[in-house]
Amino acid sequence: MLGIIMIGGPGSGKGSNSIRIAERYDISRLSVGDSLRALAEEASTSSDIRKRINNGSLASNEDVNKIVKTFLLKNKENFIIDGYPRSLEQAKNLTKILKEIDKKLSHTIMLKVSKETAIQRLTMRYNCEICGRSFPHEIRCINCGSNQVKQRKDDMSNEAIEFRWNQYQNEIDKLVQYYSVYGPNPITIDADLDLESVWSSIDVIFDEELLSIL
Ligand SMILES: [Zn+2]
Repeated sequence: MLGIIMIGGPGSGKGSNSIRIAERYDISRLSVGDSLRALAEEASTSSDIRKRINNGSLASNEDVNKIVKTFLLKNKENFIIDGYPRSLEQAKNLTKILKEIDKKLSHTIMLKVSKETAIQRLTMRYNCEICGRSFPHEIRCINCGSNQVKQRKDDMSNEAIEFRWNQYQNEIDKLVQYYSVYGPNPITIDADLDLESVWSSIDVIFDEELLSIL
């Protein structure tokens, strides 16, 4: 059973890498960020969630926990969650949800990225609205070929990126500590490396595991 959480600051590549894991091992994926942005798009302009998402702040724990619980209830088997938990409070809540539905995590993957790399990547990043993949600016999606690509609102200024990065950094040490104690022990990946090297270091974790079962 695979129950993976992928944590890492903005620009660490958790979206792209979790999509690849989900595709390669055929498991369900939840991107909490994408789900929140979808909710914000649907919500009215004046709504709280829309304001917070568009200026790069964290969404409320209540919104986030609801999304995660709904996803886990629907996907009883293998799963990967990216962009969650982002705080100690969310981590504790995830533990609670998992206990309620009798599930366990198998891996905590931590993508460690510097602020410089994050800013450099995110100011150039575009997302495909069809398959969710992100990549440096292209007219068409490098994955599915769709021409519905655009930049995220909270990626448009260095200040917004830096704000998100700092906010995350405040919580990340606490998360690493929490999972070091309660498990699964975090596997830290150097996410400043180029994207293919990052992917190889992630992929090898599961390859080794699958080989050990055979
Ligand atoms: Zn695409």
